[in-house]
Amino acid sequence: MSNNITGKVVVITGASSGLGEAAARHLCAQGASVVLGARRVDRIVSLADELTRAGGKALAVATDVTRPDQVQRLVDMAVQTYGRIDVLINNAGLMPHSPLERRKIDEWDRMIDVNIKGVLYGIAAALPHMQRQQSGHIINVSSVAGHKVRPGSAVYAATKSAVLMLSEGLRQEVKPYNIRTTVISPGAVATELPDSITEPDVAQSIQQFYAAYAISADSFARAVAFAISQPEDVDINEILFRPTRQEL
Ligand code: NDP
Repeated sequence: MSNNITGKVVVITGASSGLGEAAARHLCAQGASVVLGARRVDRIVSLADELTRAGGKALAVATDVTRPDQVQRLVDMAVQTYGRIDVLINNAGLMPHSPLERRKIDEWDRMIDVNIKGVLYGIAAALPHMQRQQSGHIINVSSVAGHKVRPGSAVYAATKSAVLMLSEGLRQEVKPYNIRTTVISPGAVATELPDSITEPDVAQSIQQFYAAYAISADSFARAVAFAISQPEDVDINEILFRPTRQEL
């Protein structure tokens, strides 16, 4: 029986670590061709080499998601190399938490550029191909923080809340093209994400929280695989998961 993953062409932004890397490994092992985008080229090249040596199909494309031309190139390379794009996972993101009163305007800009505009650039790059194909699947990565704001997380939560709204708007608009849409909201997952926090006191408290609660990135990979593997007439629109121990 088909898993509805084998043979699919899956483009993943932010594939150089954490959730994107875990999804790439999991989907490739299930027969998908994965196209990896990130700025740390050494990491995605070595991941693509490793997956290819293991018998999978993988391609690395240097991509900064704040650059629409680079996101377009990432998607176009997937189509040129493998003939189509079946899934785009808009995963790249950063989380430099801090209270608003500390006025970390550069970090606010960066979160808006990567977490919101990066997702939009991915949608812009993939949609024409998927419309032409009359099939496709766009998976956006939000967060529990997109549903619940806490002191220190206002800007990050706002960007992830924006991803929820964009995803619902996209869902309604792409109905005529037979395109599926999923927004995934993870709780604390052990990745390099807290490393983007520059305020030492905030970093320390988030690191402690992650050390106590975070679960493996495989949890995300399995959620992605669940959404993709459904029959084509089943559209899993939203997934929210947390570590069992995580309260908020
Ligand atoms: P990581 O820090 O491990 O990974 C972040 C990824 O985003 C890296 O691959 C990084 O690649 C990429 N990235 C950052 N900026 C850019 C950019 N400008 N262009 C291209 N890629 C970029 O964290 P996670 O794996 O945890 O994060 C993945 C997503 O999951 C994020 O959107 C995050 O908000 C979300 N999330 C994570 C949770 C968690 O607890 N871990 C919980 C909820 C949501 P590079 O630096 O090489 O460019």
